[in-house]
Amino acid sequence: MEVRHQVVVVGAGLAGLRAALAAGQAADVAVVSKLYPVRSHSVAAQGGINAAIDERDSLESHAYDTIKGSDYLADQDAVELMCEDAPRVVYEMEHWGTLFSRTPEGRIAQRSFGGQEFPRACYAADKTGRALFQTLFERSLKAGVRVYDEWVVLSLAVADGAVRGLVALDLKTGELHTVAARAVVMATGGLGLMYQRTTNPYSATGDGTAIAYRAGARLKDMEFVQFHPTSLVGTNVLITEGARGEGGILLNARGERFMERYAPRLKDVAPRDIISRAIETEINEGRGLPGGYVHLDIRPLGLDLIRHRLSEIYDFCRTFAGIDPSRELIPVQPAQHYMMGGISTDNEGATSLPGLFAAGEGACVSVHGSNRLGANSLLECLCFGRRAGQAAAAFAARAGEEAFPAAALEEQRERLAAIRKRRQGEHHGVVRRELRGVMTDKVGTFRTGEDLAAAAAELARLQERYRSVALMDTGAVFNADLAAYLELGNSLDLAQAVVACALERQESRGAHARRDFPQRDDQRWLKHLLCRYSLRGPVLEEAPVRITRFTPKERTY
Ligand SMILES: Cc1cc2nc3c(=O)[nH]c(=O)nc-3n(C[C@H](O)[C@H](O)[C@H](O)COP(=O)(O)OP(=O)(O)OC[C@H]3O[C@@H](n4cnc5c(N)ncnc54)[C@H](O)[C@@H]3O)c2cc1C
Repeated sequence: MEVRHQVVVVGAGLAGLRAALAAGQAADVAVVSKLYPVRSHSVAAQGGINAAIDERDSLESHAYDTIKGSDYLADQDAVELMCEDAPRVVYEMEHWGTLFSRTPEGRIAQRSFGGQEFPRACYAADKTGRALFQTLFERSLKAGVRVYDEWVVLSLAVADGAVRGLVALDLKTGELHTVAARAVVMATGGLGLMYQRTTNPYSATGDGTAIAYRAGARLKDMEFVQFHPTSLVGTNVLITEGARGEGGILLNARGERFMERYAPRLKDVAPRDIISRAIETEINEGRGLPGGYVHLDIRPLGLDLIRHRLSEIYDFCRTFAGIDPSRELIPVQPAQHYMMGGISTDNEGATSLPGLFAAGEGACVSVHGSNRLGANSLLECLCFGRRAGQAAAAFAARAGEEAFPAAALEEQRERLAAIRKRRQGEHHGVVRRELRGVMTDKVGTFRTGEDLAAAAAELARLQERYRSVALMDTGAVFNADLAAYLELGNSLDLAQAVVACALERQESRGAHARRDFPQRDDQRWLKHLLCRYSLRGPVLEEAPVRITRFTPKERTY
């Protein structure tokens, strides 16, 4: 099939749908999504979305907390813009129908989240993502936004240095389709599957980020991977920070509230990077529980509050761990959760490749710098999703109607034919398992130059093996084996970018903690690393951090 739209958005999560709605105001727009939209990870978001809507709070305070949380690596103009937009975003979603939890007086309720001096996370129980998503999805259906679902985008079509559309694999039939477009918005979410322990779903393979990278767009801040302190031991299902925001506390094996030692003021609601390292330190120094975990205690909140405001957590604990969190301690450990880095964009979502825009977790504006604060990602998706959609539509209005470059389709056809033909070789599952092991062991909460260099060498070997993988299923209809193989290629390319940037940055900042360079070094490293694709591996460049009015200082909580 060959289709043509003025703007095409890749991804039907919060960022993608918001971009599509905005673009649809001025252009003919379609969404391509490898999942049926409601299966996007945005739907799993639990705890909340930040906005300074209380008169005792302020936009400056939200911006300051975000910038301090970022360890001063965020671009401050982008942060200010997002925080100023936040109340509008929340009220817009409410007017469109999102049912936020309320205070007894009937106002939108807010709870504490890590690293914030004011309880500013608006929430819908512990199902905030689902509530926001439902609203946007209904609205996009009403607006008649066309969605091509279960189409896996494989590549961008680029001619004369500009994007002309994309090539996608239809999972239902195995056919290749082309979507010609004047502008493309990438909104394909996170990349957590490259880690063994992650709160992300199987679909989080960073596809759009990898595709844009290979097509020539720059990536930014790739060394900054967020580890969430509290994932449920066993499945690594997320236990929202909201559980601590409501008053839950962390305990080591001796029953000590250890966060008092690491963040005397904010304690259990310190930022995620600090708590994850604290938990790892407790475990490494022998104060963890056997098998490597600590406890989260939400018993004091009482059954009533837990069932009311943390109902999903209550169910998760019972279903996945067989425990009743109103009477028992929850076993938790850090797990990969979020990617601060992604396709480098300006404040309007434009990338270094003309016609390509990006938004959401797969993009990097950068509003999170080296460490994201909880409840700022849903906000980023809605704020910058809208801006990217608008900018893409404006770009499309200026651009002419160009022919779709036939070579882009041919290239993918040959690539798929080659892998289908290969009869012998190891299975991609083996390569993926090793990739996830390497990333978890060597590119985790604490890093060293030695480990990172070993990881780089291991990844180069895995890339080599990837090239001789063979499929078990060579059929056309719903070939999940083929889709997983293609996704693994994206994970491998992005893993190399993460490791290259992590090796380069010889300091500790936010989520990037180098044991061999334990201090933050503003003299040398108050700057972004950009990453460009080459066949020989990632090529690194630097970019300044944009500072408006918050001077970097020591980060204590
Ligand atoms: C368990 C969990 C809880 C969270 N809770 C919160 C929270 O309370 N507050 C907060 O601010 N943040 C939270 N986050 C983070 C936040 O939810 C995500 O960062 C955000 O939802 C990402 O949205 P997105 O639109 O960028 O991508 P997603 O929602 O992940 O959507 C990605 C889309 O891209 C599509 N796609 C991917 N690859 C392809 C391809 N090759 N071809 C076509 N389509 C493709 C998928 O089909 C999907 O529709 C949480 C994250 C997790 C994992």
